[in-house]
Amino acid sequence: MTCPVCEGKLHDVDDITLEVEGYIFIVKGQRCASCKEEFPLEEETQRTITVARKLGVWPEPMKLYRRFSKSGNGLVFRVPADLEKQLQLDEKMEIAISKNGNKLVIETT
Ligand SMILES: [Zn+2]
Repeated sequence: MTCPVCEGKLHDVDDITLEVEGYIFIVKGQRCASCKEEFPLEEETQRTITVARKLGVWPEPMKLYRRFSKSGNGLVFRVPADLEKQLQLDEKMEIAISKNGNKLVIETT
């Protein structure tokens, strides 16, 4: 395996630090011998997200896989409850929706 950044040699390590909302998680992964870039293992990152959610913190940036639901003629997206709490969202809040390539960005205003 070579580093996707500089094509240097990757070494297996078990001391990658992931900082999530002020909490430090130590995870397994690989580190580049040349540029020192760290690549946490996907399952370790997922595990960290699970732990972080138990602690009530939400790693950023994070990715969730959800489906839309159908309501009337439109599609509805339900915001996960912990995200709702963390961002203090409510139904009176105005949001801005923008399109960025295939990404939909929802911002609170
Ligand atoms: Zn590298």
